[in-house]
Amino acid sequence: MGKNVTITCFTIALCLIIFAGCATTKSTSPDVLVDNQQIITAVNEAALRSDCDTLFITCIDYRYAAANQDFINETLKLKDNYDHISIPGSIYNFINPETRDLVFSKFALSVSLHLINRVVVISHKDCGAYGGSVSFGSELSEYETICSDLRKARALLIEKYPTLEVTLFLESLQQDGDTVKVNFEKIL
Ligand SMILES: [Zn+2]
Repeated sequence: MGKNVTITCFTIALCLIIFAGCATTKSTSPDVLVDNQQIITAVNEAALRSDCDTLFITCIDYRYAAANQDFINETLKLKDNYDHISIPGSIYNFINPETRDLVFSKFALSVSLHLINRVVVISHKDCGAYGGSVSFGSELSEYETICSDLRKARALLIEKYPTLEVTLFLESLQQDGDTVKVNFEKIL
């Protein structure tokens, strides 16, 4: 497959996913479907400034969305102080040379416009962009592949922006009694 075709397919897939996400949100909030309805939410004053500290890069996977927000806001104490980019597979398309430039261009705005000084990349196990856990053959292979990809992403980011601090996490679903929780492991 040619480079241009690959990038075009990736862009179309990204748009479809965003559209699907919007459609799903509408279907679960009937009031939003009323034409011309005005919806107003409050903005924390701390967020009304021209820059922020950190850019988060996560996968789009809905299973981790709420946990990611809690992790960023509560655990890392970065509420109202971060940009957040969700892309399928987190850094999967970033380390792919054929789609890297497209993804990199999205990161660049956060660096140049919001003057971030840190990037936090969060990847997760059983990611559809990799074909799910089954595609790896073993739990160890999955762990080592994703950790290796995270480290490649860090190297690429630091190569482009040497002053950035880049922190890596691998998250996974873990059974805890009757509930399922998300475990975040910091990757060195
Ligand atoms: Zn994923």
